[in-house]
Amino acid sequence: MNRDQSRDLYDRALDVLAGGVNSSVRATQPYPFFVQRGDGAHVIDADGTKYIDYVMGYGPLLLGHTLPDRVVAAIQSHVSDGPMYGAPTEVEVELAEFIVRHVPSVEMLRFVNSGTEATVSAMRLARGVTGRDKIVIMQGSYHGAQPSTLVEGGPESAAPSSPGIPESFAEHTIPIPFNDEETAERVFTEHGDEIAAVLTEPILGNHGIVHPVEGYHQTLRDLTEAHDALLIFDEVITGFRVGGFQGAQGVFDVDPDLTTFGKVIGGGFPVGAIGGKTEYIEQFTPAGEIFQSGTFSGHPVTMAAGLETLRYAAEEDVYDHVNALGRRLREGLSDIVADRAPEYTVAGRDSMFKVIFTRRGESQTDACSGGCRQDESCDRFESCPKNGADVDAAATDRWERLFWQEMLEEGVFLTANQFESQFVSAAHTEADVEETLETYKNVL
Ligand SMILES: *Cc1c(COP(=O)(O)O)cnc(C)c1O
Repeated sequence: MNRDQSRDLYDRALDVLAGGVNSSVRATQPYPFFVQRGDGAHVIDADGTKYIDYVMGYGPLLLGHTLPDRVVAAIQSHVSDGPMYGAPTEVEVELAEFIVRHVPSVEMLRFVNSGTEATVSAMRLARGVTGRDKIVIMQGSYHGAQPSTLVEGGPESAAPSSPGIPESFAEHTIPIPFNDEETAERVFTEHGDEIAAVLTEPILGNHGIVHPVEGYHQTLRDLTEAHDALLIFDEVITGFRVGGFQGAQGVFDVDPDLTTFGKVIGGGFPVGAIGGKTEYIEQFTPAGEIFQSGTFSGHPVTMAAGLETLRYAAEEDVYDHVNALGRRLREGLSDIVADRAPEYTVAGRDSMFKVIFTRRGESQTDACSGGCRQDESCDRFESCPKNGADVDAAATDRWERLFWQEMLEEGVFLTANQFESQFVSAAHTEADVEETLETYKNVL
């Protein structure tokens, strides 16, 4: 496959951009392909090669690359009116109303510009309202490029996972394994009156896709309630992706105090939001005392893109379409994996999917052919990854260095490592899915 243009662009980029990219996951080996443009469910690289795209901007592009006319019109009208003002606009209120109407636990919101900013502000809010410093996070969960969650190790050995983060930041973070109720209970027994919040993705979407075991989130809800700590769901990926308009919190029937959003709600533009109970959200300045601000927050172009995307999704049954294709992909992948690599695990939900290259276990049975759901009655329950460490133990190098490259050669663009979720968009068709399954069959 000819990638001369991409190679030349990367050569130039290496001189002026750190590592040649602006987000580390994009630096694929030996060099990334540069995108010329998107087309529906496809991207076309700088050399004119077309790929079926399941990266979808790492999650935001619910509608794919070719936005419906009405979404484009809404964006363009806000661009022509002047991009932003430093004063409020109606469209911010409309998007907030839409989200409040659909996500059960969210009564109020504050918009920001990225998922990272949302988790930073949500943690400040939780610390501010409780007067406590410690935050419990899940090992392998991702909450953006921020110092309090770029922390690794266990509850007694938390340490920064990147240079540039003071040890003293990590002292306030307690990383625990996802799906491990005992450890959660233990850290609350030991530190209950110092914990401001538990911050978790409802489904680990940045680490292989790991589903919660039955009752796990309720345990976190009960523990936080009993100790007057907040429960924060990071729905930056799952919000308006899993469970349709209600989010993953609706699927698992959990009522978090705060929810962070990003990705889909910006319709492809930079966005984040902190939502939750009025008693908490109103503590942000200027209603309350906890400082929160941003030049670009509630940007009219972003708000219009997000609002029109969600309205379109509601009127055109987009979730029915993407979820059905997601299911078809997971079922098809389960069959292929049963034949080619029975130890592998198919994971995901709704329009999210991934094959985890687990090294042990039997084939997925019919019970879990729609993607591992941590179903205890499933023969394979024990071998389905339960937490970040289980995913780390998979054949991650094979995934990244052999499998991903070969899929790309065959025209399928997947997220570039074992960990990040893949996404179906409204633009994908049954034919795309069948072609993709055929490609997996050839490459696996
Ligand atoms: C992507 C992501 C973030 C970070 O969002 P950015 O917009 O990249 O800053 C935070 N949390 C989760 C769960 C994410 O998937």
